[in-house]
Amino acid sequence: MATVSLREEATDLLQRLIRLDTVNPPGNETLAAELLREYLAASGVDAELYAKVPERANLVARIPGRGEGPSLLLLSHTDTVLADAAEWQLDPWSGELRDGEIWGRGALDMKGQVAANAVAIASLARDGFEPEGDLIFAATADEEVGEDFGLSWLCREHPDVVRAEYCVNEGAGDRIDFGGGRVFYLCSAAEKMSSPFRLRVYGRSGHASMPGIGDNALVKAAPLIERLADYRPEPRLEAEVAGFMRALVGRDVSADEALELARGVHPLAAELVEPLLGLTLSPTVISASQKRNVIPALCELICDCRLLPSQSHEEAESVLREILGPGDYELEWIEGQGGTRSPLDTPLWQAIESFVSAEEPEAKAVPMCLAGFTDSHWLREAFGTVAYGFFPLRTMDPEVAARLVHSADERIAVEDLELGVRFLRHVAKEIGG
Ligand SMILES: [Zn+2]
Repeated sequence: MATVSLREEATDLLQRLIRLDTVNPPGNETLAAELLREYLAASGVDAELYAKVPERANLVARIPGRGEGPSLLLLSHTDTVLADAAEWQLDPWSGELRDGEIWGRGALDMKGQVAANAVAIASLARDGFEPEGDLIFAATADEEVGEDFGLSWLCREHPDVVRAEYCVNEGAGDRIDFGGGRVFYLCSAAEKMSSPFRLRVYGRSGHASMPGIGDNALVKAAPLIERLADYRPEPRLEAEVAGFMRALVGRDVSADEALELARGVHPLAAELVEPLLGLTLSPTVISASQKRNVIPALCELICDCRLLPSQSHEEAESVLREILGPGDYELEWIEGQGGTRSPLDTPLWQAIESFVSAEEPEAKAVPMCLAGFTDSHWLREAFGTVAYGFFPLRTMDPEVAARLVHSADERIAVEDLELGVRFLRHVAKEIGG
């Protein structure tokens, strides 16, 4: 091992992880868990597999702490979304190294970070690192679908193995150059809540040849859908977005001026900020009559809805009632996931800041809220863990990376993989050292 650089070690491990098909569904994450167990064992790190069903194992490993400080969890998931090989230039499960990039499904989301986490803890173990608190590595199943085989299940059934004061997870870390010396590494400290709802619009059926005899629920739904799509929230600034804006324009800004100011700096800044100023509504699924010649008595719409971390269902519902007005409909929430945050004034934040300024003195770590959500919310809800999404990406253009996630030709620059290992080792030493 001593002759192999951490860069080569991470590259090799990522290639091997990509070559295991862990597309979820069905997942088969045990393949990755077993590979990681074997990899970690070679550096003397013991790992356990925890599985609700045998083929969907989670792996947890640790360097035990001296019991004098906080624990740090390096969290990742080993499942991926599917890949249609016909859309790719290279086989999505090849793990091919080409022009300094490793190609394959999961390279960015998130087998790259799995590999970097594993190399960080394995190399620290080889260095004889003895942290004050436990350094924990968890590579979990089922993040992409979320049917309770992964972190949600671990937090409930094996809370002692994943409980941690601090956690580094996926979600952000991209380096963005907004021009004018504004070079930021985004760190996600909060996430919106995914909270879709069903709208049932009622009418009366009838033969479609005589439109006048029925009351067409599909047609009645149309103006409601338009009203949902036209909704623009009263802007509100969450703490993380306020922090981002302060870094962007150099002063405190009001919610009303945030979007314009962001647009004035860079279109990408506006793109980032816009969905974070309020709840968003995207009608996505609709069903009505199953027969061409029958006027539907019922039209069902599913609307994707994302709430701010500070927003409740009650508040959102009163907004929706106002948008939709009175009518023959019922509104039903389907689920709510995410919508949590961690404070910014923490040793983990300082560790991220000090990494960024050591790597690139002119750059700055800035907070962000995610429009989507990650597994971090399980830890925040179960243990009050301070969890951030941060995996630094510097070599690959962040707009390119964003387009490759869950899409064709996903790949990661080896430089970024190595940067990630460096970051994780730094954080582990700052928190545990
Ligand atoms: Zn992911």
